[in-house]
Amino acid sequence: MSHIQPRDFALLTDRDVDHTCVSCCGDEDFVLLRCRHCGHIWLECYECSTWFVNLHDLSQTVSSFISDPSARLACPECAVAFDDFNHLADDVVDAYLPNRDHVAAAGFGHFLVDGRADP
Ligand SMILES: [Zn+2]
Ligand SMILES: [Zn+2]
Repeated sequence: MSHIQPRDFALLTDRDVDHTCVSCCGDEDFVLLRCRHCGHIWLECYECSTWFVNLHDLSQTVSSFISDPSARLACPECAVAFDDFNHLADDVVDAYLPNRDHVAAAGFGHFLVDGRADP
């Protein structure tokens, strides 16, 4: 059962991430995020709000937990702030998700279920 419900079905959700690639809090629910400004792609465990900000080095993590509704997360690469407090909410999540082509072009296809067959 996915919690991520983009309107665009080409976008990737938690169902598309190969959970065996990364270990986190033991209750992992991973979703890939993409910055619409710079194209940076990173991984969120939305069970514990951990961001894996560098998919080449999974030891680089930060907390993405914010509680103040006026606060905004920002891209870990270009620091452009998100437009929304809850970036995974159904009505805005499309702006933060990559599609399969984005992920493959960035060289991260191995993080996807069935991604290993990509050229
Ligand atoms: Zn976690
Ligand atoms: Zn960015």
